[in-house]
Amino acid sequence: MTDVRVPLLDLKAQYETIRGEVRSSIDRVMGSQRFILGPEVEGLEQEIAEYSKCRHAVGVSSGTDALLVALMALDIKPGDEVITTPYTFFATAGAIARLGATPVFVDIDPGTYNIDPAKIESRITGRTRAVIPVHLFGQMAGMAEIVDIARRRKLYVIEDVAQAIGSEIGNSRAGSIGHFGVFSFYPTKNLGGIGDGGMVTSNDPELAERVRLLRQHGSHMKNYHHGVVGGNFRLDAIQAAVLRVKLKYLDRWTEARRRNAARYRELLNSIAGVQLPVESPGSRHIYNQFVIRTGNRDALRSHLQECGIGTEVYYPLPLHLQPCFNDLGYKEGDLPVSEAAAHESLALPIYPELTPEMQQVVAEAILEFEQKGS
Ligand SMILES: *Cc1c(COP(=O)(O)O)cnc(C)c1O
Repeated sequence: MTDVRVPLLDLKAQYETIRGEVRSSIDRVMGSQRFILGPEVEGLEQEIAEYSKCRHAVGVSSGTDALLVALMALDIKPGDEVITTPYTFFATAGAIARLGATPVFVDIDPGTYNIDPAKIESRITGRTRAVIPVHLFGQMAGMAEIVDIARRRKLYVIEDVAQAIGSEIGNSRAGSIGHFGVFSFYPTKNLGGIGDGGMVTSNDPELAERVRLLRQHGSHMKNYHHGVVGGNFRLDAIQAAVLRVKLKYLDRWTEARRRNAARYRELLNSIAGVQLPVESPGSRHIYNQFVIRTGNRDALRSHLQECGIGTEVYYPLPLHLQPCFNDLGYKEGDLPVSEAAAHESLALPIYPELTPEMQQVVAEAILEFEQKGS
């Protein structure tokens, strides 16, 4: 029908707009020859803390390591249980399992795909130590309910903010509500580096200090003296320098994503077989992904691919059914809302540089498919 190709994401388009600034930030680090921590990392930490309306931020090597080091800082160990969602990127539960603790999966809300707070309490046992809500696709989980449960049942809360930097509920930003917020700067996140990177935020100075210790082998103030066993979870100075450039544009990019989402809503609103993403009241969705739902997902995906339109399935197999978690004893049917979402969800291109013309192409291709009487 048309020869406009629409990729799921186009990082080159974004790079073109900031190439000069990014290159001089890299040059600045090269000139200083300070590659490990130092002023760029400290600068980014302050800026992310401010951006996330949080008191402390500690740069780490990835979102995965942010999860791991936050759990380590809470002394999560074998025998402990940590409640989370099965409908997330693997790292959320992988970090729990790597420490020998047990992920306990609680089903999601069918509208937002986030953990369903109403289902958490029945899964709390004497061994439960923490809850990790994930702010999936860019929208915050029901933090008011989650924090209320956690206070009453004396649990820690770690917000997985990997997909949701800058998202809000009321006046609270993602990462400023729980004991920790964990961020990822993986290149495809809304604030993406030129490699791996992550951040841990906290309002508690002692918890933040523990993360600071653990990210450098338990040795922070005094070299070669180790109070605890940590690891090398440091954020690279070059990543920090580039991320500081990109952070200045983040709000502009987020607004473009939100505009694109609004435009999709207009274009796709009347297509009967397609369910649009649900925005919960009072929340600011930052659209790391724009995920629609349809009964004939795989056929629609093939059709869009033939039309030159990139899509992705987040996530095709919920974590409770992953082979590596077989011994946790879950079976198909245990968490039906997540399982249905895994069959029906499809992420469309939503990146800031997407043009109205490209969105028109996407919408027409979807309409064409639905009218064929799928
Ligand atoms: C990307 C992601 C992570 C992991 O971040 P990395 O930087 O890739 O290690 C963790 N949780 C969620 C929800 C993610 O989307």
